[in-house]
Amino acid sequence: MRPLSYARATGVDEAIATVSADRGCAFLAGGTTEVDLVRLNVARPTGLVDINALPLDRIEDLADGGLRLGALARMSDVAEAPGVVERFPVIAQALLLGASPQLRHMASLGGNLLQRVRCSYFRDGVSPCNKRMRGSGCAALDGFNRGHAILGTSEHCIATHPSDLAVALVALDAVVHTRGLGGDRAIPIDDFFLLPGETPQLEHPLEHGELIVAIEVPGAPVARRSLYLKARDRESYEFALASAAVALRLETGRIGEVRLALGGIATKPWRARRAERALLGVPADTASFAEAAGEELASAVPRGLNAFKVELARRVMVRALEAAAAMGGAV
Ligand SMILES: Cc1cc2nc3c(=O)[nH]c(=O)nc-3n(C[C@H](O)[C@H](O)[C@H](O)COP(=O)(O)OP(=O)(O)OC[C@H]3O[C@@H](n4cnc5c(N)ncnc54)[C@H](O)[C@@H]3O)c2cc1C
Ligand code: SF4
Repeated sequence: MRPLSYARATGVDEAIATVSADRGCAFLAGGTTEVDLVRLNVARPTGLVDINALPLDRIEDLADGGLRLGALARMSDVAEAPGVVERFPVIAQALLLGASPQLRHMASLGGNLLQRVRCSYFRDGVSPCNKRMRGSGCAALDGFNRGHAILGTSEHCIATHPSDLAVALVALDAVVHTRGLGGDRAIPIDDFFLLPGETPQLEHPLEHGELIVAIEVPGAPVARRSLYLKARDRESYEFALASAAVALRLETGRIGEVRLALGGIATKPWRARRAERALLGVPADTASFAEAAGEELASAVPRGLNAFKVELARRVMVRALEAAAAMGGAV
């Protein structure tokens, strides 16, 4: 086995060229996912290219009221940025409800989107896991699957996507900007996360060596009245069992505009489009919220220990919508 090499890149193109040249090489940002996985012997890079010196940490307000968030902006800095807190509280809340203060100081936004699943069979390094070792099977299907997904699953993988931030960004139609040897790309965030299908080892459409440089969030007045609700086993330092990012605008008691995305229950950050369609134009009351949640969850596929998530997700959606409606909602 080759020893793990380390290099600190000072330029974006240099970092991309170095990683692209060696399939065993990976980018290193805050290291809060990557170093963990190297220690567990689940990730086995031959080289790490430290990208922390790259000029990709800016948090900018855009003319359309949107945001441009550098890929190396830290979770804690983004959560406190005035433009985020005022215009996109759902992003600030999703960040602050994730990980711990120490981790948020280290962890970057790019790394957050690319964090790996928390499935214990993936992380133990030995169990059958199609994501870690293609074709080896999925120990979670009939195993300890209490934390696993009920939406977007396949017979090859049922792991949930762990990011809270990504749920908020999916609700807001963010765009992931990348640079690679083939040039620059702008990838709508809903296309950035792949369903497991027959290829659970593929989690995103990035080429090897393609670098996330920024995330853009388009201006959305509705997001001023938005929130993130997260249900988990303990109050802090824990991943979601079910979560909802919601933004709502009311028109004389009815829903004029709504954004809804779910976390903790799906294999990718889940835009609840069925529920959104069901909500448009209906009275902003608990009965409408419960009916829309039921529509979204109609295609849920629970497995043994995670069956409770159907009811939990329904309650999280209803409660998040009730809270958003109570904020006033008229923008
Ligand atoms: C104990 C614990 C609890 C946590 N709880 C939560 C939680 O509740 N909610 C939540 O959302 N997250 C949680 N996290 C995850 C945490 O948010 C991520 O580990 C972190 O955001 C990753 O960012 P990083 O900069 O450390 O990435 P790194 O670990 O440096 O990198 C992660 C991956 O992304 C790649 N990468 C990094 N930056 C780029 C880039 N710009 N372009 C291309 N590839 C890149 C790396 O090669 C690597 O594969 C938790 C983590 C831990 C350890
Ligand atoms: S759920 Fe996915 S990550 Fe977990 S063991 Fe199955 S294939 Fe691996």
